[in-house]
Amino acid sequence: MTEYRKVHDEVEAVSGGRAVLVAVSKLHPYDAVLEAYADGARIFGENRVQEIESKFPLPDQRPEGMEVYLIGQLQRNKVKKAVALVSRIESVDSMALIEKIEYEAGKIGKTIDVLLELNSSGEEQKAGFRSSDELFEAAGYIMSSCPHIRLRGVMTVGPLGYDSDKNRKAFAVTKDAFDRISSLSPDIDVLSMGMSADWKEALEAGSNEVRIGTAIFGERQ
Ligand SMILES: *Cc1c(COP(=O)(O)O)cnc(C)c1O
Repeated sequence: MTEYRKVHDEVEAVSGGRAVLVAVSKLHPYDAVLEAYADGARIFGENRVQEIESKFPLPDQRPEGMEVYLIGQLQRNKVKKAVALVSRIESVDSMALIEKIEYEAGKIGKTIDVLLELNSSGEEQKAGFRSSDELFEAAGYIMSSCPHIRLRGVMTVGPLGYDSDKNRKAFAVTKDAFDRISSLSPDIDVLSMGMSADWKEALEAGSNEVRIGTAIFGERQ
C-alpha cells in the first residue's frame, strides 16, 4: 500500500484543487509505481535517467496515461535518452543544456516540455539558474530559438534542512521569477515547488505543482 490517495486528497484540500501532485518514485521499485498508479497516480518524478531507463517500460508500453518527469540534475551526455524517455524535464539549469535538449528533441521530431530550475536559496551546492535575470534570459532564448522545447514554467527545491522562514523566502523569490516569465506565454503556467517536508508552505506561496516522494512511498534506501 502506498499513501498516494491520502497525500493526494490532502493536496487537493489545501490547494483547493489547484495543484498537481507528482509522485516521486526515485529509488522505489516499479511495483511501488504500479501500486500508486492503481490508487490514481499518473505522474511520476524520477531524478536519474539511468533509473528511468531500467525501471519503466518504454513510453509507448507504459500503462494508459502514465507520465514520467525528470526532476533531477541532467548531464549533457544523458540528454538524448532523457528526451526520448520523459514527457517533461523539470530541472533545466543552463543555456548549454537548453541547446542540447533542442538539438536532441529536433533530431527525433519531438517537442518536449521543460521547467527552468531556479536556485532560490543561494546554496552553493544547489542546481539551478542563479537569479531571476538569468532565468528570464534563458526563457527568452527558448521562446525565440527552440522550436522543439515548450517552456512550461519554473521549478525550485527549497533550502536544505527545515527552516520555515528560509523556505518562505525561497518560495517567494521563485514565485516572482515565475510571474515574470509567465507573462511571456499562456503555455507558461507551472510553478513547481514543495516536497514532503514543505509542500504546504509552497502551496501558500503560489505553487501549483508539488513533488512528493517520502510521504507517499516511505523512506528511500
Ligand atoms: C527527491 C525529490 C523530491 C521528493 O522529495 P521528498 O522529500 O521525498 O518528498 C522532490 N523534488 C526533487 C527535485 C527531488 O529530487
